Amino acid sequence: MDGIRKNVEQQIRWMCIGFAVTSGVNLIVSLLLHLSYLPTYYIIAALIYLINARAANLRRFVPVYLLCWMLIAVQSCLTVYVLGDDCGIQMYLLVLIIPSSYIRFTDASFRTQRFFQVTACCLCIIGYLVSDELVDHLLDPLTIIDDRSEIFFTLLNVTGSLTLLGLTSSIFVRNYQNIFLKLLDQSDQLTAEAEQDALTGLKNRRGFEHFLAKLTPVWEKKEQAVTVALGDVDFFKNFNDTYGHDAGDSVLKHLGFLAMDILPPEAIAFRWGGEEFLFLFPMPLKESAACLEQLRAAVAQNSVSWENEELRFTITIGVSSQGTIATLKHLIQEADQALYKGKEAGRNRVVRYEEQP
Ligand code: GH3
Ligand code: MG
Ligand code: MG
Repeated sequence: MDGIRKNVEQQIRWMCIGFAVTSGVNLIVSLLLHLSYLPTYYIIAALIYLINARAANLRRFVPVYLLCWMLIAVQSCLTVYVLGDDCGIQMYLLVLIIPSSYIRFTDASFRTQRFFQVTACCLCIIGYLVSDELVDHLLDPLTIIDDRSEIFFTLLNVTGSLTLLGLTSSIFVRNYQNIFLKLLDQSDQLTAEAEQDALTGLKNRRGFEHFLAKLTPVWEKKEQAVTVALGDVDFFKNFNDTYGHDAGDSVLKHLGFLAMDILPPEAIAFRWGGEEFLFLFPMPLKESAACLEQLRAAVAQNSVSWENEELRFTITIGVSSQGTIATLKHLIQEADQALYKGKEAGRNRVVRYEEQP
């Protein structure tokens, strides 16, 4: 956000410089046309714009903006008074409508921002109408210049103001696009973080729900054979009590690592909660049970180094019968029952769910 604010401050500066440049061009043209009053005013205006550009930052946005507005309003009235309303200089007032939105980047309250923006738009339109209509109708133009000079002067100001309008609006849109894209990125990142278990790096239960919502239609269409397994660390409470919670954490981390390393890439491991893991296999029961046996054996054979000790642990895994994604809830219940049976039977084993006769 800070980068965007700096960018906006730079744009306010460039807006002031843009007005200074157009005053400079008008100065040259008015000198060439030997116009009265205007050259002096354009010099003063160009200098004030440049000072304004140096002073411009978001905290001073309101005075900087209002000063620009005043200079352009006086410049418009004066030029219309000298040349008549066909001089095109009033258009610069309309250019100011878009930069009024930069108030949104200041610290002002929402109500103040809204008030400023509405007032600024009204001021720009009133300034335009006063200089274009009122001055021209109330006062006769001071100087009559030839048609070619008038067309040249008008074209110059209309082109200049429309160019500034195009530039300010495209930069304005780009700023909002940057903010929008940044917010989208942040929201994706936050979702990914919320769906990942920080300890093991596996997806958590929330990640499981998201994953399911994404995959269900695809697997349903393919009538994909699915099996589910629930793995649970044996005697983990004792483990924590003996070696400490941090040692327990490194065991869970190690288990997450082994699961990612040993299970086939199609299988997805989730940290289901505590020391319990859920494995989802888009494959028949026979294949998934073999992979799980490999994982169980690897866990039992491996050890975790902790404070000069090699800590060993085992897991028990319950496997559901073969089903489809539509029966997933049921498969998880089956895996849970099989896990319970595995614990009862002595732990450190893979137990398949069996229908009660
Ligand atoms: P069983 O073999 O029957 O599964 O016994 P158990 O001791 O593993 O089972 P129990 O459910 O009694 O204990 C689970 C323990 O897991 C209790 C809890 O303190 C521990 N635990 C849960 N989450 C974490 C964690 O993130 N880190 C650590 N270190 N321990 C955890
Ligand atoms: Mg346990
Ligand atoms: Mg448990």
